[in-house]
Amino acid sequence: MAERKKLYEGKAKILYATEDPAVLVTYFKDDATAFNAQKRGTIVNKGRINNAVSTHLFQLLEAQGIATHWIDSPQGQADGREMWVKPVTIVPLEVVVRNLAAGSLCRQTGIALGTPLTPPLVEFYYKNDDLGDPLLTCDRIRAMDIASDDTVTQLQQMAQRINQVLINFFNGCGITLVDFKLEFGTLADGTLVLADEISPDTCRLWNQNETDESRRVMDKDRFRQDLGDVESGYQQVLDRILAHTS
Ligand code: UDP
Repeated sequence: MAERKKLYEGKAKILYATEDPAVLVTYFKDDATAFNAQKRGTIVNKGRINNAVSTHLFQLLEAQGIATHWIDSPQGQADGREMWVKPVTIVPLEVVVRNLAAGSLCRQTGIALGTPLTPPLVEFYYKNDDLGDPLLTCDRIRAMDIASDDTVTQLQQMAQRINQVLINFFNGCGITLVDFKLEFGTLADGTLVLADEISPDTCRLWNQNETDESRRVMDKDRFRQDLGDVESGYQQVLDRILAHTS
């Protein structure tokens, strides 16, 4: 591919323009950050694994009628680290879905780790590093004029549908989907689509064959909590997805 213009570089990905205005390229890096980038490191092969996991999950969701920014592309681009995507305007909200209590929910409420949440929680956080990605309420979203009430309702419904598809899929892989973060964007015609990535960086995934609290973790908590074997946790998620899909 010819020289490409870098549009944006985030903590884990780089976004490039292509000669085709309808196609952008996301490049998945091995860089890892946690705690609002206060902790930094590298997870070998993470970019490749997260791209492969996200690609599988976007394809799965598309097949279930959920619109995403993912575009099918020729294989073998940039060592498996590139995903072709549609240009979107990102909604500055992180939509977090929680099936079991973990992370900030436990820290902020005292709910015990692993407590089932029925129905699952759908939460909104403001995508703003300077403010530390604060938890929002629907009233705050309205006051800040981030999204209309209709868009908020649509985000909640899409998040719940995505959760159902992903819970079933991961269960088939012997993995419990504890919680995850989604980002959405709008296409030029205003359609809301799922964007960003869905990977062990953005999900909490517990191995159903392990009961030990630290051994069962297959996601970025291995990095956040210095549990070791971070790459093999990520790789095992991909291996199970591939085995389940084939
Ligand atoms: N998450 C994410 N990016 C963020 C914040 C959270 O991908 O900037 C994911 C995180 O990996 C977990 C879920 O969203 O799967 C809920 O995270 P939580 O609010 O518990 O925050 P944490 O405990 O990671 O600070």
